[in-house]
This record gives sequence, structure tokens and C-alpha cells, in this order.
Amino acid sequence: MSRSDLPALTIADLQSLLRRKEVSPREVIDALRARIENVEPKIDAYLSIDFQAAAKEADKVDVDLPLGGVPIAIKDIINVKGQPCTCGSKILANYRSPYDATVIQKLRAAGAVPFGKTNMDEFAMGSSTENSSVKVTRNPWDMSRVPGGSSGGSAAAVAADSAFGGLGTDTGGSIRQPASLCGIVGVKPSYGRVSRFGLVAFASSLDQVGPLTKTVRDSALIMNAMAGHDPQDSTSLSEPVPDYKKNLGRDLKGMRLGLPKEYMIEGIDPQVKSAVDTALKQLQSLGAEIVDVSLPHTDYGIAVYYFLATAEASANLARFDGVRYGHRAKDPKDLLDHYGRTREEGFGAEVKRRIILGTYVLSSGYYDAYYVRAQKVRELIRQDFVKAFEKVDAIVSPTSPVPAFKLGERTADPLAMYLADIFTNTGNLAGICGISVPCGLAKVNGNQPRNDRGSRTLSELPIGLQILGKSLDEARIFQIAHAYEQSTGWHEARPKL
Ligand code: GLN
Repeated sequence: MSRSDLPALTIADLQSLLRRKEVSPREVIDALRARIENVEPKIDAYLSIDFQAAAKEADKVDVDLPLGGVPIAIKDIINVKGQPCTCGSKILANYRSPYDATVIQKLRAAGAVPFGKTNMDEFAMGSSTENSSVKVTRNPWDMSRVPGGSSGGSAAAVAADSAFGGLGTDTGGSIRQPASLCGIVGVKPSYGRVSRFGLVAFASSLDQVGPLTKTVRDSALIMNAMAGHDPQDSTSLSEPVPDYKKNLGRDLKGMRLGLPKEYMIEGIDPQVKSAVDTALKQLQSLGAEIVDVSLPHTDYGIAVYYFLATAEASANLARFDGVRYGHRAKDPKDLLDHYGRTREEGFGAEVKRRIILGTYVLSSGYYDAYYVRAQKVRELIRQDFVKAFEKVDAIVSPTSPVPAFKLGERTADPLAMYLADIFTNTGNLAGICGISVPCGLAKVNGNQPRNDRGSRTLSELPIGLQILGKSLDEARIFQIAHAYEQSTGWHEARPKL
């Protein structure tokens, strides 16, 4: 195999080449670097890359470890020692991490090489990566469209073969939605399954770190390395971590999959609907039974999410005060002027909007009416899932109601942007696990000029199928997603870059 073909490999295939010593970790870094230099000017997925540190680490790595010699791209909200960690924000523009997050320590212990930090919506607030204060990332399938968000940099890099795999974070959909829009696999682990020590907090009752990869198996490999209890994160669960590879290859006979009637909403793109319908038939042909279920409080998901996530964000982001980290306003008149101008200069519009909303929701006159009520409805949403899971093993739905939208299309309308997560954020509210796996390609008018026969060229845009599982039932959603993926091959479709 020629070196320039290496970046297209899955993690599993790359790791077996490394283990057989057919390629060295240093050669992998070099091949990846060449690929990144080639595609990065088109998609802008990375905020910083340290090839030198990566090459040094690669030279020392034990290729017999499960991820030995595999470079992994990291969303720029997870601390990697010595690297920048901007969270896509001006307020952290000059910050460097003094330590490794637990997930990074664990990936390194499994032999992975974290080599670069990826673009994101500022503090993970957004669904398109357009809220990054640094730059816009483009969808590798169509450069006039968004990669989704907020983990859009990691998703675009994996889709463009400029990363073998990446880490993202998912508070309301930020791993699954960009995975869906970029035609790759993305996993939101159950709340508490993966440590958040060293993750910059957005909404602490919702945030989880998870993988973005080309295949389901690759996500299982990363989860094997990363999941588990961490004494440094009191919300992490102590239940033992199963081997997530163990169910891969098992069939779906007897598996009951729930289809929530509330998810077939108006406004869902007809091509998304038809791809998901076809996926359901495919799952049936693999032995699964499709069962109607109801999640009656689904309609409240977006509202509840935006009460709670903004409330938590307003508290979490109080620490960016210009004293302890990052940007500091020049020549303040007094302390209040120092805080006020530091935050005015450092935060972008969406982050400010969230802090204002969250502060309002928590303010003494409105706390009961908004925050406490939203907590109660969150419990009803959680119970919807508990009841549904009494009848079914997993729940299937589209990941996103639409394929990748155009850059700029939703930036002026925050509500339109918030609707991107309509199928994903109830999973975070309930604390359950979910995966998005490619299930088709939509055809839309491309950006290119008419071709010689005078007809408009068509862009192909990926569609994702979401599979939600009970808390700590990751092994089962991996099994279902893998069986589906292997029987269809949608994961093999690649953008033409
Ligand atoms: N789009 C949602 C938001 O803006 C979810 C973001 C996320 O999961 N980090 O809050």
C-alpha cells in the first residue's frame, strides 16, 4: 500500500498494519501530515496541530497496545498537556493546558497519539461550528455547507481522512449531529460513562465526551480505551466497562427496536425520512422487530434543554473572569470594569446570549417558574425513555431532521439553529447513550455551475440514523449499529475532495 493511501484507513486496519510492523508510527504521522496539508485549506477543521510533539511520541509508542500508534484529533475543549485549549473562544486564545484530561491520559495509555485540536462552536454552543471565534469549518461533502456542530472540526477531519478518529463532546447532540452531517459514526456515551476531568464544562448535567470515527468498530475501540470510573470526576460511574467489541458481528434476531411516533415531525426532510424508512426495513431484514413507542414529552425537549443548559453554562462560565485564565481587558478602571470588559471582549454573541438567558432562568424571581419547572419536565422526559425501554431494546430515529445546511443559512436565527438538535437533546436530558451511523445520501442542488449538458450538478449529502440505548447499554447500540453498517456499506461512501 502506498503511504498516501494510509489516511483513508480505519483505526482498526491502521492498527493491524502498525502491529505487523508494515508501517511505523512515524510514517503514519508523516502520511497524515501530507493529507492534512492537502485538504486543510479547503475544510479548515483544525485550530492547532503539533506534528513535532506527535512525531516524538510516535517514536516511543508501543504498537502492541490496542490503539498503539494511532493519531487521534481532539476537540479544542479537552485539555491536552502543553497544547492550546481555546474552546473556540477569544477568551482562551492564549491559554495552554497544564495537564492532560483523564480521557487523554487513557488514550495515551492505550497507545494513541493526540496530535491536534479541532475547531468547534465557542464553548460547544451551536450546531454548525459557525460560532467558532476563529474560523468556519466546511463540510467535506459540499464546501458551501456546515459540518454540523459543535464538534464540527473533529467530524469534518474524520470525514476528510485528515484524522483517523476524533474526540468530540455531546451536550445536546454535538457528536451525533455533526457525525450525521459528515457521514461518519459518532457516539454519545451514557452520562457518567466517560470522565470529564479536564473537559471544559458547558452544562455539567449533560456533557459527555465521545468518539467520532469512520466505523462502529473504531468507536468501540476508542470507548474501550476511554470509558470507566475516574476518582477525579465524582459524576463518573463505577460500573465495570464491558469489552465493546464483544457484540460486534452478532446478529439482531429477537432485537426489539422502538420507533417513536413523535419523531416523525413536520419539517423533516423527505429524503431523510425515506432513508430512515429504508434503514428500518434493513434492520428488520437483519432479524430486528420494529415496535411503535411513544415519548410523549418530546415536544418539550428543546425548551427544557435551553433552560437547563443555559442555566448551567451561566454558572460554569463565571470562571472566565480575566483573573485566572486567558484574555484580560487592558487598563481597567476598577474590578467591575475589569470583569465587564474582559467578558465583553472575550465572549462571542451566542455565548453572551446563553449567559444572559441562563442568569435570567436562575434569578430569584424566575427560578421556580423556569429552572425548577424545567427540572420537573426533564424527569418526565427521562421517564418516557424508561417506559419505552420496558418494551424495546433500543430506539431508532433520524439523527438530524435535515442534511447539512448552507453556511450562513441559520446564523441569523438562533431558534432555527436550536432545532437542529430536536432528535438528539432528549437523550442528554435522560442521560442515556446514543450513536449516529450513516444511512444514506441525499441529493441536493450543488454549488457548482451547470455542467456541459446544461443540468445542475447535484451534491450528495450524508444522512444519519440515530440509535438510542438505555443508560450503560453502549454494547447493545454498538451491536445494532455495526450489524446495520456492515450490511449496507454506507460508511464506505466518501466525499470527493
Ligand atoms: N446545539 C446544542 C447547543 O447549542 C448542543 C451543543 C452540544 O451538544 N454541545 O447547545
